Amino acid sequence: GRPEKINLKKLVTEIQEELAVKFGSDINWELSFPDNVVLKVESGRFKQILLNLCSNAIEAYNGQRPFIKISTFIKEENFFLEVSDKAGGIPEKIAGRVFEPFFTTKEQGTGLGLSVVYSLVKGLGGQIFLRSTKEGTAFLLSFPKEIVVQ
Ligand code: ADP
Ligand code: MG
Repeated sequence: GRPEKINLKKLVTEIQEELAVKFGSDINWELSFPDNVVLKVESGRFKQILLNLCSNAIEAYNGQRPFIKISTFIKEENFFLEVSDKAGGIPEKIAGRVFEPFFTTKEQGTGLGLSVVYSLVKGLGGQIFLRSTKEGTAFLLSFPKEIVVQ
């Protein structure tokens, strides 16, 4: 599809609804961005990025009540979007491999979620950074700030 103007809050609401169907609605969300953030992106792709990151966050809780934070900020020439959890992080020895196609630590995993995210982010002209601690995991996405509609 072609880039369209999408309200981030509205897109996140759709994602929350889809994830509630898939995983149950008892998810603790923290949305830390203004209601009026509008992005010019292909919405299907952008939605897939967020769905894959949030699904992984939920799965990392192994049945415990998930906490997911989505935040945005603009710094210099870039728009940043961060998806983070407090599910205990990614062990250092596998952190370098999580974007590889078919890499999974899950019995029923495909190992494709993050490789798809990586390609989609690149396709939107962005970059992705992984920050993991003993507390949890954060995926930081950076895009040219031109994707933000003024
Ligand atoms: P899958 O979810 O099918 O395993 P992904 O490509 O989505 O494949 O993720 C690859 C691996 O990265 C996961 O199996 C898991 O080990 C790790 N991972 C991804 N996101 C998180 C997260 N938020 N917390 C802990 N581990 C994660
Ligand atoms: Mg996954």
